[in-house]
Amino acid sequence: MDFVTPGYRPSRLSGVEVWHHAEEAADVVARLALLVCDVAAAMEVELGCKPSCTLRLCVYHSNDNAATALGRNVPPTMLMAPRLASDWSLIVCQSPKVDPRNGDWPQMRRHLAHEVAHVMLADLTGGTRKLGDGGHSLRIRSWFDEGFAEVAAAVVCARPDIIERYLATPSETAWSEDELDAALDDIGSPRRPAAFAEAVRRVQVGYRGRTLRDVVHEMEAVARL
Ligand SMILES: [Zn+2]
Repeated sequence: MDFVTPGYRPSRLSGVEVWHHAEEAADVVARLALLVCDVAAAMEVELGCKPSCTLRLCVYHSNDNAATALGRNVPPTMLMAPRLASDWSLIVCQSPKVDPRNGDWPQMRRHLAHEVAHVMLADLTGGTRKLGDGGHSLRIRSWFDEGFAEVAAAVVCARPDIIERYLATPSETAWSEDELDAALDDIGSPRRPAAFAEAVRRVQVGYRGRTLRDVVHEMEAVARL
C-alpha cells in the first residue's frame, strides 16, 4: 500500500485502521487510534457531516521507515496526509520511539486534528491528493487548505490561544493568493511560516462568529482554483 512500510500490519481500533510495525507498543497504537477517532468525531460535529472515505493511519516505527515510505527525508516529528481520496485517506505519524515529542498526547491530538481537517476538506470538496502529484487535484487553494486545517485543529482542541498567536504575527507583505500558495507548497521555503500565519488570518476572518461548516460553505467558492 502506498506510503505504508512493507511488513506493517493493520489493527482496527476505535473505528480507525492503524498500520504499524509488529513491535510498536500496543498502548501507543491504541492511544493514537483513540486520538484520531476523537478528533474526527469532534470535526464531524463542527462540520455537520461524516467523511465518506475510510480513514487509515500509519505509525512509522523509525524515521528511516518514514523517509523510505514517503520517498524523502522528514523531521522526526513530522505528520502528514500523503493520500487523500474518495475510497480511503491516509494520515501518517511517527512513534514516540522516534522522538519523545511524538508521545506528547495533547500536542499529538492537535497535530492529528490538523491532518484530519485536510481529510475532511478534501472529502467535502471532492478533491484528491497523492504526495508528489503537485496537489493539482485538490480543488482548493493551498492557503485555504492549510489555514482551515490549523483553525479547525485549534477549534476542536479548544486552543484559541494558538489562533491568537498567529493573529499577533505581523503581516510581512501584501500576499497574493499565488504567492501564498507557492510558499506553502514549498516545504523548504523560508517564507513558509509567514505564509502559514497569513493563511490562518484569512480563514479566521471568515470564521469569526460562524461555524467551521459556514467557513467551508462560504469560502469554498472563493478558495476554489
Ligand atoms: Zn497541513
